[in-house]
Parts: sequence; C-alpha cells; structure tokens
Amino acid sequence: MNYIDHEKKPFPFCPGCSHHVVVDAIGNALEKIQIDPKKVVLVSDIGCMGIVDRYFNIHTLHGLHGRSFTYACGIKLANPELTVFVMVGDGGCGIGGHHLINAARRNIGIKVVCFNNFNFGMTGGEHSVTTPIAGITNSTLSGSIEPPFDLCNLVLASNGSFVARKTAFDTDLSDVISEAFKHDGFSFVDILEICTAYYMPLNDFKKTNLMQMIENMKLSMGILRNNDIPEFSKKIRSTWPSKKQEQQAPQIIKKRFSSQLNEEYSVMIAGSAGQKIVSAASNLAKAGIASGLYASQQNDYPVTVQTGHSLSEIKLSKKRTFYPNTEHLDALIILSDDGLKVAKKHISKLSSESTLIISDKLEAIKTKAKIYQVNFSNTKLSITNLNIATTAISFLININKIIPAEAFKFILESISKEKIRDINIKAYEAGISLYSMCDGR
Ligand code: SF4
Repeated sequence: MNYIDHEKKPFPFCPGCSHHVVVDAIGNALEKIQIDPKKVVLVSDIGCMGIVDRYFNIHTLHGLHGRSFTYACGIKLANPELTVFVMVGDGGCGIGGHHLINAARRNIGIKVVCFNNFNFGMTGGEHSVTTPIAGITNSTLSGSIEPPFDLCNLVLASNGSFVARKTAFDTDLSDVISEAFKHDGFSFVDILEICTAYYMPLNDFKKTNLMQMIENMKLSMGILRNNDIPEFSKKIRSTWPSKKQEQQAPQIIKKRFSSQLNEEYSVMIAGSAGQKIVSAASNLAKAGIASGLYASQQNDYPVTVQTGHSLSEIKLSKKRTFYPNTEHLDALIILSDDGLKVAKKHISKLSSESTLIISDKLEAIKTKAKIYQVNFSNTKLSITNLNIATTAISFLININKIIPAEAFKFILESISKEKIRDINIKAYEAGISLYSMCDGR
C-alpha cells in the first residue's frame, strides 16, 4: 500500500530542501506500520510542508497557522480509533505553542512531526522560536538575540509521553517516525533540517553546520522518552456516565395539566444569594411546561457565592418564546434588601394589572401594581431562607392562577432529594396558607 502517491512527485519544494526526504520518511513510516489508510488523518499546518497533503492517499485537513494541533486533537477526541498526525513547522510550533504543550500535557494521542528548519520558509525566511542565537534571518539581519526554544525539552516538560529528535539526514528517520505513530499517547518528533532557500544561504548552513550546531547547543538526539501512560481520548471515555447513571438524568417534562393563560406572562423573583431563587424559579418554569406552556428563564447574580443579590425572570407563554427579556412584568416578587436594590429599576415595568409581592420587612414601594405585603417570617409556616422563594411562588400561583397549583406541587414532589423535596412541599403549603390569610383573596 502506497500512502504517498509517488506518481504525482516531485514534491513542490525548493531544490535540496530537507522536506523532500522528511515527507518520504513519513510515507515509509506509514508503510512500515500498515494502518488502514481510511483510518489515518493528516492535519497539515501552514508552511511549505503543508502544501503536500494532496500527495497522501489518506484523509487530510489543512487549516490555520499554528492550529493544526487543535484540529488534530478534536479529530482524535471524536474518534480515538483514528491515527491522527500533524505536520507542522517550527513557525507553527511557536504560533500554536499553547496548543502543543496542552495536547502533550493531556497526553492526547496525536502524532506531531515537526519540520524544524529554524525559520519561516514559506513567508520569506523570518526568524522563529527555534532560530539559534546569532542566526541570520530576513527579520534578524544582524543575528537573532532571542534564546530559542528546545522544542523537545518543552514537550518533555509538558508531559509528552513520546519525544524524539532526529535530523533529516538520519537513515533511521522513518523507523523513529513509525515508533512515534505506533505510540498510543501523545508523540512528538522534532526533525532538524535545512531550508535551502533562506536559512542555508543566509547562514552558510549545510549538513556539517547543522551537526556542529547540535553539538554546540548540546541537543539530545534520538528517542528521548517513550512512556506508556493512558491516552486521553480513551481515558476520558472511562469517566463518562454509565447507562445506569444516564437513566437517572432529567426526564422530559410531559404535559399533564392545562393552563388558562392566554397572554405571555412574565415573573421576576428578586432576593438574596442562599434563598434558592434560581431553583424555585426553575421549578415554576417546569410547572409551566407541565401545564402545556413554553417557558424561558433568565438569571442574574454576582460572580461570588452566598453573598449579594439573586434574581430570576421567568416567561411563560402558549407561544414559543425565543427571547427571555421582557419590557413588561406581570408579577414581581421581592424577598430581601438585596433583591429590592436590583429590582428597583424594574418597578417601572409593572402596570396596574401587575402584581407586586413584597416582604413586609422591606420599605414600601410606589407602584401602580396591586401590592401584597407578606409576612414571610410567620414562624408557624416553617418558612426559611431555603424555601421563601418557593413559598412566594406558591402564593403567586394561588392569587393569579397562571398555572394549576397542582402542576407546581407535582414538580416539587418529583425532586429526587428527599430532604429538599420536603422543604419545598412545606413551602408550597405555606404559600397556600398565606393566600388564605391575605386581604386580596
Ligand atoms: S522555502 Fe525553505 S522550507 Fe520552503 S520549500 Fe523552500 S527550502 Fe524548503
């Protein structure tokens, strides 16, 4: 099986460019391991090496500069059975360095072959993250003063489980690449080579100079690490929920009740963190769905926890709702000082048809809406901070009949945690008691 279409050759590289032999070495490595070509994916980065993907008889993808690692990781994560390899230059390793080190850190089983010729060849010979100190490029005409990355050390330090460095002149290059391809986890092969168009003429840089540079920079060569540690795309699947756990996932809410609501109805509940505002509002939305309505929910709270305001807005409608915001409020529930502070700017959304339910501990508010000042601290009704919002919603449902009270009770009874379910059922009953005591009945 030929993984490279040799009839299309020669490759469109400059004469003498090391890419010729490295691409052939990759083809030979694939032939050595004989993987089904339909299960091999080449992701080529931007650079001269990236223009030869059409010579391969395998799946190929060519994308943005430095992002080849991300595409390859995505493909591997979606289908761990594929052999996914990246052809990238030293330029792409600099641009996509963050992606490179994190793919290595996670041990995602992609294979990275780096064509490292110490400069950006395709764009005219500019310096890269591997240009040696004093290396002359078209962007460092007086010689680079930047310390270069040792890409192998970078990947080793990032947990790369297979790391090797070779030169394009090594006769066993395809053997090492095939070892990298056989490795289950992340693998990286740094191949030092010659760009005959730019780095070579600007630095009089031939094979002997490359070998001298390796010695001067004390670069370790050969296979530097080959550790057998669990590969990420397979490991993450072992953490996915089992079928049994999936069965415990939330079920679709079926219509069991009927609502008399003809117009869209918007409720805002404003209180403090810790008052279970969002959960209570969510249960109202679910009760609306169980009553055959569409529901949307929008929440607002600070990034901190257990401090500050908590606000939730529910929209119920017979028609599908696409936008949770509303210019009009049919009901506003205010349960604390924090809630009052954030709800003040929404009071103008209340009309004479609207309802304002407010704790009797809070300051009086001027509004056209019908006001219910409610004693939520009635000690006989077991109202606590944990169920005050559910109590207030139960009270609202009993006043305005927007949905059947049984629908709200049904949703509260389906809460899986017994302790929370009991607290909420007490709140539901407290809401009915408050309704029976209130003047507006
Ligand atoms: S510009 Fe350099 S890297 Fe690109 S094909 Fe020519 S010699 Fe090779």
